[in-house]
Amino acid sequence: MEFDAKFDYVIVGGGSAGCVLASRLTENPDISVCLLEYGDEGKDLAIRVPGKPLKSNNWCFHTTPQTHLNNRRGFQPRGQCLGGSSAINAMIYTRGSALDYQRWVEQGCEGWGFDDVLPYFIKSENNVHGSDALHSDSGPLHVSDLLSPREVSKAFVEAGIANGLEHNQDFNGKKLDGVDLYQVTHFHGEKQGQRCSAAAAYLHPVQNRPNLTVITHAQANRVIIEDNQAVGVVYEKDGVKQTVMARHEVILSGGTFGSPKVLMLSGIGPAEHLQSHGIDVVVDAPEIGGNLQDHLDVVFDYEVNTTDVIGIGMIGGKNFFKALSQWRKDGTGMLSTNYAEAGAFFSVGEDPQKWPNTQLHFSSHEW
Ligand SMILES: Cc1cc2nc3c(=O)[nH]c(=O)nc-3n(C[C@H](O)[C@H](O)[C@H](O)COP(=O)(O)OP(=O)(O)OC[C@H]3O[C@@H](n4cnc5c(N)ncnc54)[C@H](O)[C@@H]3O)c2cc1C
Repeated sequence: MEFDAKFDYVIVGGGSAGCVLASRLTENPDISVCLLEYGDEGKDLAIRVPGKPLKSNNWCFHTTPQTHLNNRRGFQPRGQCLGGSSAINAMIYTRGSALDYQRWVEQGCEGWGFDDVLPYFIKSENNVHGSDALHSDSGPLHVSDLLSPREVSKAFVEAGIANGLEHNQDFNGKKLDGVDLYQVTHFHGEKQGQRCSAAAAYLHPVQNRPNLTVITHAQANRVIIEDNQAVGVVYEKDGVKQTVMARHEVILSGGTFGSPKVLMLSGIGPAEHLQSHGIDVVVDAPEIGGNLQDHLDVVFDYEVNTTDVIGIGMIGGKNFFKALSQWRKDGTGMLSTNYAEAGAFFSVGEDPQKWPNTQLHFSSHEW
């Protein structure tokens, strides 16, 4: 392995964005890319099985005490391996409302309207239902129906319909409103029922390209800036500091928390805050690391008596081993769950645009 090397692009963070970038850029054999990822390869069984505990390959962040949550701290899971958060997420395949994208454009985010991004959704998708004007079956990201949805999830859908919600069999179709089981980013075909993380979809199949260097267990510490230009990255692997240089671009794709952190450690951020940590200010950018907005879930718990569970109790434990053997056989069974199996979108309150402004997840766990 050649260290202190030079590549066309250096990508920091091998999560959803980083895997797509590394894979697409190196389709051109004349372009060289180095991808740095803090975590591991993202190939463990615990990642491939959809129904798995949340805490492995996870940064397990917590928020600061939140005034509006009575000073409680919120759990902030984030993926830590190739695939990033797509290696630990709930795999729900929803693109969102076209109006959300429209709002971004209105706020100045040109090029991010729904019609602008739709071709990329289509290019990425390999949907088990085949292709049409809004879908594709030839992209790298597999999208499937749940193979063994729980009876209780189907009951949620029936209850939604009985209460006036439309039965929407494609949340990524002409409209978002309605209720149904979700489609999920699971493999179909040979690897049926396995999680299709961004790494499994984009990176693992091309990791042996000669123009792609992937360095795992590497923590990027800071971007090297010369004459106001990002020219490389200092990272640490096995306790040793190394540098990797970029001829064209350094791309930060370390996620919502990782990217602003690397920027701030590089001297790009709110000047006063950086100085308070002894960091030399390169660019005073007050917006970096602030204004985080998240989609909080409000959880309503209902306890039911059922043996239709997997987990740590007597029945749950027994079911787990049975389910593991079934999943290994053909990818079906209780371990193919994404837990949040069903959902609904609708509008509440004053909503003249019928956005929709509310999403329900129906999820079942053993406690
Ligand atoms: C629990 C959970 C459930 C979710 N459920 C869904 C869902 O069902 N459907 C959906 O569409 N979305 C879901 N999401 C959101 C979705 O997974 C994320 O929006 C998406 O994965 C973010 O991609 P990213 O590339 O921005 O960051 P990430 O995928 O988080 O990748 C960032 C990567 O950078 C690495 N990194 C960070 N800092 C450094 C550093 N200094 N040096 C080296 N590497 C670094 C990290 O280890 C990580 O691998 C969920 C997210 C979570 C956390």
